[in-house]
Amino acid sequence: MFLDLDLVERFHMDYEVLCRWLLSVKKNYRNVTYHNWRHAFNVAQMMFSILTATQWWNVFGEIEVLALMIACLCHDLDHRGTNNSFQIKASSALAQLYSTSTMEHHHFDQCIMILNSPGNQFLSGLSPDEYTRVIKVLEDAILSTDLAVYFRKRGAFFQIVEEGPNWALEEHRDLLRAMLMTVCDLAAITKPWDVEKRVAELVSSEFFEQGDIERTELKIIPIDLMNREKEDQLPLMQIGFIDSICLPVYEVSLKIFSFAILSCQKQNVNEILSTAK
Ligand SMILES: [Zn+2]
Repeated sequence: MFLDLDLVERFHMDYEVLCRWLLSVKKNYRNVTYHNWRHAFNVAQMMFSILTATQWWNVFGEIEVLALMIACLCHDLDHRGTNNSFQIKASSALAQLYSTSTMEHHHFDQCIMILNSPGNQFLSGLSPDEYTRVIKVLEDAILSTDLAVYFRKRGAFFQIVEEGPNWALEEHRDLLRAMLMTVCDLAAITKPWDVEKRVAELVSSEFFEQGDIERTELKIIPIDLMNREKEDQLPLMQIGFIDSICLPVYEVSLKIFSFAILSCQKQNVNEILSTAK
């Protein structure tokens, strides 16, 4: 994917260092039920597919594309199979470090740690300005995978799509990148039924495992979503999740993506950008 997006050539990456970095990222995912390396890889593959199929890579430009690809691969680094509210309930060290978007701050920290580790510095060919920009976009992208952030930003995003976005505007592109991260993070829901079903089972298994720890170690009753005893309500909760969280962002995405795909068949990207204005 990095080769196809021409990132290796453009940013003078040492191929061996890139491969070592990738293996380090893989190694820093834990063997948890859902939030493991496979999930991170799937999210990155979705981002790659969207960027290439819609030609949006041209709209974002090489710096933002590089940052988005790194962000997808790193966005759940060192995930422990437990969510932000668990960190707070368990008064974990991470929750004491970051009171909001606890895990997402940690994923970003881990990402920076690996990028700075000897033998893994595959961004060393970037100019200082390029590097600063990549890290900023990367941080925003990883923090945007907190669904609380998605809820905070999506109203503004839906509004600009409604009113006619201008993707040349930094502010509009910031929102688009944030939404794209959610689109890719939740993309299992868009896959064929047999794939989607298997992934949904992994997600709910991890939730139940958190619920088990809450019950046995924290001595609290888990929320229904994580409560094994409420398993019969799972289909209803899944539909609720799809309707309230997934569907709105994919519906809006469809509007802007089909515009991009249709347009790219006829025009070049500069024309698309001016049309969008
Ligand atoms: Zn994720």
